[in-house]
Amino acid sequence: MQRRSFIKKSSYAGLALSIVPGISLSQETEYSISELMGKEDIKLYGKDINLRKAAHDSFLEMKKAAYSDGMDLKIVSSYRSFYRQEAIWERKYLQYTEDRGLTKLGAIEKIIEYSTIPGTSRHHWGTDIDIIDGYPRTTGDVLVPEKFGEGGPFELLKKWMDENANKYGYYLVYTDHPKRKGFKYEPWHYSYAPISIPMLKAFRRKNIFKLILEEDIIGKENFTSGFLKGYIQNNMLDINPKLL
Ligand SMILES: [Zn+2]
Repeated sequence: MQRRSFIKKSSYAGLALSIVPGISLSQETEYSISELMGKEDIKLYGKDINLRKAAHDSFLEMKKAAYSDGMDLKIVSSYRSFYRQEAIWERKYLQYTEDRGLTKLGAIEKIIEYSTIPGTSRHHWGTDIDIIDGYPRTTGDVLVPEKFGEGGPFELLKKWMDENANKYGYYLVYTDHPKRKGFKYEPWHYSYAPISIPMLKAFRRKNIFKLILEEDIIGKENFTSGFLKGYIQNNMLDINPKLL
């Protein structure tokens, strides 16, 4: 009992582990299953930002710094609920199985190149962002790796983020490390480590396997235990080691 109240009182103040100067990481916060799976109405901050408070504040600082270096850090996607992810999943599943004629398993493998099974997206946490530079003129889809590479409209932004993002607590999640498995390289997806690290830790303490199977997701009859184990291991956990 005593320890409980001690933890509660000190979770924001004293008992913090510093990973980056000026940014503290509380390891004692507990997160509910519904919060981890994007089903809770969490408080989000900032118009067109929609992040948890600390992630929002740090993003604004980073945006200011990028602005003075000639870039307009623009969020394409941040918080996304379970239900929004479910709609994305369903649209893609039907598109791949019905319009493109893929097998059910083939469709699922295709979806999880870039999209998550509802309930397992880091975007559910209010800590993760997909960003571009709002200044360069572009056409077509913006979240494609080539646009962040050499000669692409967001090349400068990517270089700036490589040098500066970590100072603000933001880390690339799906890196281009050749041995990394799971989701493909996403040069646009960053995570606010001081909150997302403890959230991932909290999620790993739950039975993710069982939680996914409990959901009414279209195509889930194809989620064999081998598939789900691989998904958790590769797509959820084979990320930038700085975020583990
Ligand atoms: Zn993303």
